Amino acid sequence: MNCNKKLPEAPSQPLWAVAGRLPLVAMVTAAALATAPFSGFLNRNREEALFTDIWLYAGLYVGALMAVVAAISLVFGRRVGSRWSLVLGWCAFALFWYRDLKELADGSFLKQVFPAQGLVVWVVATSTILVLVARLSRRSWFPTAAMCFAVTIAVVPLGQYSWFSVSSGDISGVSSSAGPTVVLEQRPDIYFLLLDGFGRQDVLDALYEIDTGPFVEELRQNGFVVADLGMSAHPMTWLSLAAILDQEYQALPSERGRPPTMARQIALMAGESRTHQVLKANGYHFVTAATTYGSLCRPSLISEIEECVNERPEVDAAILDAYVRYQLAFMTPLVGLSNSGILPGWLSSLWLQGPELLEDEATVGGKAFLARDVLDAVATVRARGGSEPLFVFAHMMYAHPPFTLGPDCKFRTRGVPDQSDGWGDTAAYRSGIECAVNQVKDLIHGVDSSAVIVVQSDHGPTLGRMDSLDRAINDIGDTDLPIENLWARTSVFSAVRLPDECQPSVSDTYAGVSTFTVVFDCLAGHPQIPEPGSSYWAWHNSRKVIDLTTQLRAYEASRG
Ligand SMILES: [Zn+2]
Repeated sequence: MNCNKKLPEAPSQPLWAVAGRLPLVAMVTAAALATAPFSGFLNRNREEALFTDIWLYAGLYVGALMAVVAAISLVFGRRVGSRWSLVLGWCAFALFWYRDLKELADGSFLKQVFPAQGLVVWVVATSTILVLVARLSRRSWFPTAAMCFAVTIAVVPLGQYSWFSVSSGDISGVSSSAGPTVVLEQRPDIYFLLLDGFGRQDVLDALYEIDTGPFVEELRQNGFVVADLGMSAHPMTWLSLAAILDQEYQALPSERGRPPTMARQIALMAGESRTHQVLKANGYHFVTAATTYGSLCRPSLISEIEECVNERPEVDAAILDAYVRYQLAFMTPLVGLSNSGILPGWLSSLWLQGPELLEDEATVGGKAFLARDVLDAVATVRARGGSEPLFVFAHMMYAHPPFTLGPDCKFRTRGVPDQSDGWGDTAAYRSGIECAVNQVKDLIHGVDSSAVIVVQSDHGPTLGRMDSLDRAINDIGDTDLPIENLWARTSVFSAVRLPDECQPSVSDTYAGVSTFTVVFDCLAGHPQIPEPGSSYWAWHNSRKVIDLTTQLRAYEASRG
């Protein structure tokens, strides 16, 4: 009783007094401005990143800013605090504004006007607005107006992100996983070697001067049919690979567009696809060699009969975390400054520390496994004495940036490669291709000669910078369509080794959704040539889906 009487006044009065000295409107503005880059990041990367991946960084950033402006307000008073909240809030936002502004400047006349391009444009634009904010902050209407603006840019992307997350479930109608059962007469081991980003022979030859002729010849001598006009169903891994495994397009050029998130496609790739279910029904067991942070080998309908190669969730989680930190740093001028050696090492290590995992021997330069790891896993399963046929899936990232490995699949460089160059770094891409070729050969030589082997890429390379196709979706239909780039990206390397009697059922367009239909028809005893597939374009930054098949085939024919 006594306690209650004593407590109320003493501690709460100073608290109220402290709160009264804080410029709340300006502080909310600052907090919102500092949050906006993170909510924008979350919305842009909603396919890969989750709220849980970035909340800590956003919290620390906003928290530090709040501590600074609160201290300034308490020492120098409310008016000064309000002004500094607005100024520092703007700075907190502008730091992450760099990459967008640089890209805008690079694509405009400003590139000619300013010699140092992005950095100068960013400094000029940021300081102009800074002066404006400092002067306007004295006006009575300004803090409230600034708060409305800041809260809007922080909240709108969060709203979009939430809407996409909630609406992700409604795409089950796309899947054909529940199709008719197929009874396989022959049940050889089946190897599916997915060569991520490995270009088709003619694309590599014409646009990169990389000669895969000897590799193709060797495959043919080993009983493979190589399809020289293969095209991917879609240009992005999560759609294209899901289409191969589910034997169905994942995005259609209709009202529906492309799926809003990857949830359904990840489930298909992990074991719920039509291909997995047909194989499971026919008594197959699974060996999966996965690369990326847990999108494969995660709990699924096949988990109980699946062996995972190099399953290391802690490394996967660390790589994802490193990726998020690197992407955040990439929005600021810090990555460029750090690359030119201006920043102290401890600061750079905030985002470079993670990708050092790419230099870890145990992660094979972030590529997760080599052919011998896959063969070891198969040997382990066999040593247990089971006689079930195996479906061995290896998602090989050697020909996909960042190109950490040399032609012999040993480390190519130390230090974190500049990811923005992507496939544009021809020498690095050549190394990746050669490493991939070596791994495929090692696997082919290491497996039973009766095994069916599919070697296929999910999409080809992107010409120039990684983001050079970002605007293509708007140019489709125009005369200045970047058709060569689209052709390079959609053309896929594709080869298959089937029992001899089925070889005539492999057409020169063999790829995409009919990849496993052809294999199953063969093993079921009625080989047939499927209809040629389509290529439906979809990209990260749009819900639109466009049928490019006719244009691509016409362009291909015109190249001769
Ligand atoms: Zn890919």
